Amino acid sequence: MMRVMAQTPAPRSTPDAHDGHVEHVDVLVLGAGLSGIGAAARLTTDHPGLSLLVLESRERLGGTWDLFRYPGVRSDSDMFTLGYRFKPWLGEKALADGDAIRSYVEETAAEYGVTERIRYRHQVVSAAWSSADARWTVDVLVDGEPATYTCGFLYCCSGYYDYAEGYRPTFPGEEQYEGTFVHPQHWPEDLEHAGKKVVVIGSGATAITLVPSMAREAEHVTMLQRTPTYVISIPARDQFSLALRKVLPEMTAYQVVRWRNVLRQMAFFNLSQAFPGPARAIVRRYTKKQLPDIDVDTHFNPPYDPWDQRFCVVPDADLYRVLRSGDASIATGSIETFTPTGVRLVGGEEIEADIVVTATGLNLLAFGGISFSVDGADVKLPETMSYRGLMLSGLPNFAYTIGYTNSSWTLKADLVAEFVSRLLGRLHGGSGEGRAQVVVERDPAVREEPFMDFEAGYVLRSIDQLPKQGAVTPWKLKQNYVHDIRAIRGSDLDDEALRWS
Ligand SMILES: Cc1cc2nc3c(=O)[nH]c(=O)nc-3n(C[C@H](O)[C@H](O)[C@H](O)COP(=O)(O)OP(=O)(O)OC[C@H]3O[C@@H](n4cnc5c(N)ncnc54)[C@H](O)[C@@H]3O)c2cc1C
Repeated sequence: MMRVMAQTPAPRSTPDAHDGHVEHVDVLVLGAGLSGIGAAARLTTDHPGLSLLVLESRERLGGTWDLFRYPGVRSDSDMFTLGYRFKPWLGEKALADGDAIRSYVEETAAEYGVTERIRYRHQVVSAAWSSADARWTVDVLVDGEPATYTCGFLYCCSGYYDYAEGYRPTFPGEEQYEGTFVHPQHWPEDLEHAGKKVVVIGSGATAITLVPSMAREAEHVTMLQRTPTYVISIPARDQFSLALRKVLPEMTAYQVVRWRNVLRQMAFFNLSQAFPGPARAIVRRYTKKQLPDIDVDTHFNPPYDPWDQRFCVVPDADLYRVLRSGDASIATGSIETFTPTGVRLVGGEEIEADIVVTATGLNLLAFGGISFSVDGADVKLPETMSYRGLMLSGLPNFAYTIGYTNSSWTLKADLVAEFVSRLLGRLHGGSGEGRAQVVVERDPAVREEPFMDFEAGYVLRSIDQLPKQGAVTPWKLKQNYVHDIRAIRGSDLDDEALRWS
C-alpha cells in the first residue's frame, strides 16, 4: 500500500439543528483503535480524493491498547498477524506489550496522514440514513454537547465491548471484604501491589497475563478460577523472524512470517476442532511436563473442547514458571463467600488477599452502542443479518469491523477495509458513476443462526441483542482467514445480495 501525504478534501460545513455546523464527509470512521486507524490508512491511501474523518470518544487513539493499563498488559496473539498487512511489525517481541502496540497504531496514523483527521472526545450516539439524500446524519456528543455530522458512508470500527464498564459479577459476602477490589479495565495508576497478597479471579487471557506480572513483586498471587482454560506457551521472541529480517527486506520478511503464523494457527485450530480428544491429550501432556507437581486434571482441564473458547497463550512459559516457583498458585472452585480478609471457597479453603483483581471479563457492546434508523424507521439489530461479517442487511452505505475470535483481529479488519475501499471505488467514480447507495438485501430463505458461534461468556450474555448470521455463504461467518481472502477480497460486488442504486 502506497502512502499518500497529499492534502485531501476538507469536510464541508453547513448550519445544523444544534446551532452549530454540520460537517459533511464522504466517509466517517467510528473509533480510533487498531481497526479504525488501519481502515482510515487504507481508505485515504486508496481514495485520496475522498474526505474522511475518524470520530473517537476517548482522548487518545489506540482503543484497547490505550484503555487497558494493568501490569503486563500485552497481546496474546502474535504481532505478525495482529499487525497490519501493510505495515511490518518490527518489534522484538512476538507477543507485544500494550505500550508497543499503541505506539505502532500511533505511528501508522502519523505515517498515513490519519492523525489530523481524528476528532477526539466525539461520542457517536445515533445514525440516521436518508435515502432521499443518500447520506447518514450522525449525532455526536462532543464533551457532552450535541453536534451533527453527515457522511456518505459510515464505517463502524468501535470494537466489541463497553468502554464504560467491565463485566463484574457480585460475589456473596463481598461487602464484608476489607481489602481492595480492582477491575483490569479500570486499573488505578497508584495501586501498589509489592509485598501484598493478591487474588486474581478469572482464567482468561487477562488473568493469565496478570498472574506472572504481579507475582514478580507481590508476596503471593493466587489465580482463582471457576473453570479452567486451555493454555499454551510460545517463545516471546520469534527467532525465525529475527533471522529472516537480517537477510530479507523488512516487508518480505514480515509477509513470510505472517503467512507462516496464519497457516500454523489455522492448522492448530482445525486439527483441534477435528480431533478434540487427541488435541486435549497433547495439551495435557505438555502442561503436566511444565507443572509436574500441580494437579493439571483439576486446574488445566477445561470442560469444553479446545478452541470452543479462545486458547490462552503465554510467552516463554511465564505462567508455569511462577507456579513452579511458588510465587503464585492456582485454585479451582466456587466462591462461597468473601470474608473480611479474603475469600472462602465452597469446600472450606480460605485464601487471604489484600487485593482482589476481578478479571471477570467484558460487557459486549457492538457497534459502539449506536442506535440506527433508516428513512425514519428504527433498526432492530436482531432483525438484521450480517453479510460476509462486515455489513448488515438493511443498513445502506454501512460497514463494520469485528475481528476473528480464533485468530488475530487485524487479519479480518484489513480484509474489511479492502472491501470497503472497493465499495467506495464504485460509489465514487469509474464504473460506479450515478450510484449513491449500496445496501444488503436479506434472503428470507437463508436460515438464521446466532451472530457468533463462540461460547465465551461475554458473547453468550448478549447474543440476543446482536444481529444474526445466516447458515450459508455469504451470510455465514467463517472465522477463517484463507476462506475470507476468497470470500471478501475475491467477492463480486454484483453479488445478488448487494443492491446498488
Ligand atoms: C485486554 C485485551 C487483550 C486483547 N488481546 C488481543 C490479542 O492478542 N489479539 C487479538 O486479535 N485481539 C485481542 N483483543 C481484542 C482487541 O480488542 C482487538 O485486537 C483490537 O484491539 C480491536 O481493535 P478495534 O479498533 O476494532 O477496537 P478497540 O480497540 O476496542 O477500539 C475501538 C475504539 O472505538 C471507540 N468507540 C467505541 N464506541 C464509540 C462511539 N460510540 N463513538 C466514538 N468512538 C467510539 C473506542 O473509544 C475505541 O477507541 C484483546 C482485547 C482485550 C480487551
